Amino acid sequence: MAHDGDQHGWTKRTLSAQALGKIDDATRAIVPPIHLSTTYLRDPDNQYSSGFVYGRPDNETVREAEAVIAMWEDAAQALVFSSGMAAATSLFLALRPGDHVIAPTVMYWALRNWLATDARAWGLMVDFVDTSDIDAVRTALKPGATKLVWLETPSNPLWSISDIAAISSLVHKAGAKVAVDSTVATPVFTRPLTLGADYVMHAATKALNGHSDVVAGVLATAKADEIWGRAASNRRNLGAILGPFEAFLLIRGMRTLDLRVRTASATAAELAKRFSSHPHVGEVLYPGLKSHPGHNIAARQMQGGFGHMLSIRVAGGEASAVATAAGVTLWKRATSLGGVESLIEHRASIEGKGTPCPPDLLRLSAGIEDPEDLFTDLDQALRRAMG
Ligand code: PLP
Repeated sequence: MAHDGDQHGWTKRTLSAQALGKIDDATRAIVPPIHLSTTYLRDPDNQYSSGFVYGRPDNETVREAEAVIAMWEDAAQALVFSSGMAAATSLFLALRPGDHVIAPTVMYWALRNWLATDARAWGLMVDFVDTSDIDAVRTALKPGATKLVWLETPSNPLWSISDIAAISSLVHKAGAKVAVDSTVATPVFTRPLTLGADYVMHAATKALNGHSDVVAGVLATAKADEIWGRAASNRRNLGAILGPFEAFLLIRGMRTLDLRVRTASATAAELAKRFSSHPHVGEVLYPGLKSHPGHNIAARQMQGGFGHMLSIRVAGGEASAVATAAGVTLWKRATSLGGVESLIEHRASIEGKGTPCPPDLLRLSAGIEDPEDLFTDLDQALRRAMG
């Protein structure tokens, strides 16, 4: 495979549109083939001169996806996994039983549940802290014992903002590392490694792929340190690599990442503004609004947009929120986020017991449809739900 890289100083948007400009050597195809083989021929001298041995540790199509992600994140290395959860848990399991970790109180619910149950049973000492409050992080750090601080920013489903640069500098002084779930920000708006974080994670199922047809995860690192080496071993030994077909679809999705994410973010910003003055909406949660508690930090740390995710709190309470979600036709009532189609979800129903999500909250993932259509559809559903 020949590829052009960024030797000309092309922008990330340009490099991503061409998936780094890779051309298939054999055919000169500008869309590289999918490498499906699970095994590779040994050389006569018993070596594997191609560098490939077997499909569980490695795959060329997977490597191509990783190269695009490493470019986006300014990372030394990237690894793609079979899901966002596989990526995140592979990093936590790269720590040692007895290690202390800090995670946000407001974060993706399935990972929070895993940390509160299985990770603790395995031996991690997990503290949940409001990471949007830097003093709370300072107080929770245990120098010598704390090995990893996990951030998610903006975080599900309140879009709380954590200050990556300030927290990274604090955490590094205590001898620990910082990992950021940057799924919602995407590398178009925030590159955590350039702000001082050590690792970045994505549910590539969301905006990176962008078409609601692949489950995938990403870890990327500032440098190949010991924890990174163990996370890579976990992917190999737990068999958590992404399949080549999914890796191909992920590459295809990332060709339009910049366009999709900027369009969806502009739509989310417009909807946030319009629903802020809607008679049936009590509150809009969106980091792009000045009223959002994390707005100032977000304005510094997110460049070019505040993301495609927002939530509204329906004035009539939980029953009206559920009725509103049932009353849309254009928005799709489904979980997940980051696809080209807009999704709406009564979030508390899916998160269950112990969730910090208010019962009147509807989580909105803006897609790339006409924002006027999206407003009209949700506006009529709100009005009907309120009788
Ligand atoms: N992190 C965030 C912010 C998410 O929204 C999700 C999934 O919804 C995940 C992680 C987990 O990703 P996956 O569903 O690909 O395992």
